[in-house]
Amino acid sequence: MKRRSLLKGLGAAALAPSLSFTSKFRTEKPVLRIAHITDVHLKDDLGAPKKFERCLHHIQQHSPKVDLILNGGDIVFDMNKEKLNDIDAQWKLMESIMKNENDIPVKYCLGNHDVWWNEDSKDEVFYGKKYSLDRLELEKPYYSFSQNGWKFIILDSTHQDIDDTWYIGKLGNKQMEWLSSELKNTPEKTPILIMSHIPILTSVLMIQDNVINRWEFLGGDMHTDCAQLTDLFYEYPNVKLCLSGHIHMRDKVVYNDVTYICDGAVSGAWWNGIRRQTNPGYGLIDLYADGSFNESYINY
Ligand SMILES: [Zn+2]
Repeated sequence: MKRRSLLKGLGAAALAPSLSFTSKFRTEKPVLRIAHITDVHLKDDLGAPKKFERCLHHIQQHSPKVDLILNGGDIVFDMNKEKLNDIDAQWKLMESIMKNENDIPVKYCLGNHDVWWNEDSKDEVFYGKKYSLDRLELEKPYYSFSQNGWKFIILDSTHQDIDDTWYIGKLGNKQMEWLSSELKNTPEKTPILIMSHIPILTSVLMIQDNVINRWEFLGGDMHTDCAQLTDLFYEYPNVKLCLSGHIHMRDKVVYNDVTYICDGAVSGAWWNGIRRQTNPGYGLIDLYADGSFNESYINY
């Protein structure tokens, strides 16, 4: 085969969507089909509400049907320094769209834009994560649940930076201890999916313009406790899949047999088209009883 046609052949294989590409080799059925939506950044601007509705309709037209939606955070456009009225409006819009346009159960994770860090509001009862937790009827920003033989662990990535001015990606001691005991108490045959807003491990941060002799990225871009987390996962081979968002770019990294997927963004480039080469989209993932999965990124 000439090099040119070999490359052509490889290209076609690489371009085939992973779902159809791998599913023909399977005979067993998935135990669960999930849609991972992240970075919706909803507000009543830039056509976002209509586009988000289109995304939800797209998710609901699959056959077999999607059983569960995981919302990976940055649920609303931005709360950080906003006024309470603007925040209320963003959340009311989210609730009404979810109520009227979606029938699939949803589990939520908080993103950095779902935290209220307005300095003037420090004495307010809603300061920090409290407002969003109340809206989502969650007691804590991290939790776990089991469904159809898989264990799901939802993490809280966002914490205030050491100088109190911005945020960094980490769990903190208390949540790290909780995660360790969750992993320890999960039967070793039960496959585990972990969702965080900020990626635990991603390659997309290295795609930077004008690199001279070093790359630079912030502690808010990826989990700063990445080494501790990957060490921990190494002890538990049933940790299979880690989903994240935050960067609005799509990648898939496999490290020590754990697959880390940064799943683009429903909002694309914050409702302004495409972020580099990543279209606005969502992840569609079929989970199997043996801990394997098929996944693809879908531009709705
Ligand atoms: Zn984010």
